[in-house]
Amino acid sequence: MNRHELFTELTEAFGPSGYEGDVRKIMKRHLSATTQVSTDRLGSIVGYHEGDPDGPKVLIAGHMDEVGFMVKKVTKKGYIRFLPIGGWWPQVLPSQRVLIRTRKGEFEGIIGSKPPHAMKEADRKKPLEIENLFIDIGVVGDKGAADIDARPGDPIVPIGNFRKLQNGVLAAKAWDNRIGCAVVIEAARDLTGDLAKHPNRLYLAGTVQEEVGLRGAKTLAGLIKPDIAFAVDVSLAHDIPDSEADDVEKFGAGAAVLVHDSTMIPNVALRDFVCEVAEEEGINHHLTSLRGGYDSGAIHVYQDGVPSLALGLPSRYIHSHASIIYEEDYVALLNLVKALIKRMDSAKLAEITKFA
Ligand SMILES: [Zn+2]
Repeated sequence: MNRHELFTELTEAFGPSGYEGDVRKIMKRHLSATTQVSTDRLGSIVGYHEGDPDGPKVLIAGHMDEVGFMVKKVTKKGYIRFLPIGGWWPQVLPSQRVLIRTRKGEFEGIIGSKPPHAMKEADRKKPLEIENLFIDIGVVGDKGAADIDARPGDPIVPIGNFRKLQNGVLAAKAWDNRIGCAVVIEAARDLTGDLAKHPNRLYLAGTVQEEVGLRGAKTLAGLIKPDIAFAVDVSLAHDIPDSEADDVEKFGAGAAVLVHDSTMIPNVALRDFVCEVAEEEGINHHLTSLRGGYDSGAIHVYQDGVPSLALGLPSRYIHSHASIIYEEDYVALLNLVKALIKRMDSAKLAEITKFA
């Protein structure tokens, strides 16, 4: 399976928070080729590979869940009211295609919207609210949703296929965070080659329920008790019209090293080490920050503390049906993760955790 086939498989998989089963199966299939796979009791999955039995436990985690929805209720006529899973801006939703999974199977629907002709002038200026939106699965008269048997709690995901745009830019739903899953899988593949000898105990993981509050990362930390952890996820590209920060976080800027987010200020020695490795290996990278959280936010406060860092990939239009990334940035992120796996040893851990 080549890289674009892997991207297709991962981004098109059905997996909103709490319903990651399909993604977990994909991760399991890939990870079992080179690692010893287990799961925690919330559903996060991890593949273990021993480089040095006395080396530090290094955890690399990408979350498997995507933002999606859940059936809230079915109206008398058979329209579906829904709850958001994860952070959605309602304005990106009207007229978008979605896939609903019920006990009868998978069914397509469209998020309903009023055409401008039917809107009052004042309504056009009002922002949409999610609770006023609904999904139309093909309602005709009183022939509504009975045939699909939708029930509260049934999961819903955006429909958005993997597509190549110009200049090596790739579009898909759920780059957040199947890109982290792809990095984990590609690193695992290299364990029979380039990464066969690494000076640590390596844990390559896919976590659940990141988008609703870093929940799977908490329980996974309990399972592994890591010495060092990296969350691999998306960051934000600002190189779009009207953006002020377009000189730093942009397509082509390589791997993102997060110096701040709403859940963590990273261990400074670890952050500096990562930048040093990137420089020495000639890996394109940059420092950035964002409002929001990463799995590292939950892991770094586990027990007496786990030095952690979030690594990202500049992305545009995340938390929508069509996000995009630049493939060269992905390669930089993957190379940085691989370089860290090769170099994170006991001496480095001692240095990082020494507080004067
Ligand atoms: Zn994410």
